[in-house]
Amino acid sequence: MFAVCAAGFLSAGLAYAVNPVRIDTAKAHVMIRRPALESIPSLIHSESDPIDTLDTVNEHIKVILFGDNTWKYYKTPGFQQETDIFDEAWDEVNSNPYKLAQEDLPYSWSVWLVDSLDQYHCPFQGDIHPRGKFGPRRGRRHQGVDLPLKTGDPIYATFTGKVRMSKYLGGFGNLIVIRHVNGLETFYAHLSKRYVEVGDWVNAGDVIGLGGSTGRSTGPHLHFETRYKGFAFDPQWLIDFKTGELRHRLFVLKKKYFNIYSNYEQDFEDEMRNEEEDKAEDAERAAMKWYVVRSGDTLSKIARNNGTTVNAICRLNDINPNATLRIGKKLRVR
Ligand SMILES: [Zn+2]
Repeated sequence: MFAVCAAGFLSAGLAYAVNPVRIDTAKAHVMIRRPALESIPSLIHSESDPIDTLDTVNEHIKVILFGDNTWKYYKTPGFQQETDIFDEAWDEVNSNPYKLAQEDLPYSWSVWLVDSLDQYHCPFQGDIHPRGKFGPRRGRRHQGVDLPLKTGDPIYATFTGKVRMSKYLGGFGNLIVIRHVNGLETFYAHLSKRYVEVGDWVNAGDVIGLGGSTGRSTGPHLHFETRYKGFAFDPQWLIDFKTGELRHRLFVLKKKYFNIYSNYEQDFEDEMRNEEEDKAEDAERAAMKWYVVRSGDTLSKIARNNGTTVNAICRLNDINPNATLRIGKKLRVR
């Protein structure tokens, strides 16, 4: 059982690892339905000690076995840092170093959040405060979600990445910003303790600090943000904070999510409606029937053989009944 699972994941994982994933957005829409509804549970840490390390065909990727028969991949940090994600606009002082205009971004963008090598951990599992949602608040932009907690509760790195900021910053209080291999940045604010420093490499699930109420805060909570190229979007597009699960592996990030009035709870209904429309379109496409014109065919013969009428074929193919039928032409007959 173990061997089968390991081998299966290994080949899938290596495919991602060896070729840096660059997804063509148009293709991504075809490959994975929007919104991808396969949720990913928060990483569970093994309490057991590692008992062995296995090599894979890629020298930078190992399999670590634990005493309780669980296993996980280990990628060498150097290998993962070989990407320009950590060179572009790297700034240890400013919360938004990108300085991009929204016009510079494509309409939508596909982001691999996790694969079989990169994992996920909920930063803090709990209910979002009713007044702590992503959106306008008292004339300001509230660019994240507020998760009430007890001072001292552990806060986890959501994905693997490199600490870009770890400092006290005005209203944020103690703030940690991590830039991830997937290109996203996550912000963790109002912490009582920071355990990581700028430049540290962190794995998904590492405890990076403790929750608190530093900065502009009226009570202990985690202010959590997700940003792409400096633009914040509702973290609920990624995470179901109540269950702690990640909503997708491949996330189609749309530019409209950067609008402060765009939030998951409202827009999800629209997305589902689109999903229904797409399904109806797919059903229509599945019901389509095509015929390739052969020597000796006439429209009336084709219509008769396919249980339809000349008029119907003409309408579907936008041709007139006297059109010459070229041999090899594909006609839609239903
Ligand atoms: Zn907040």
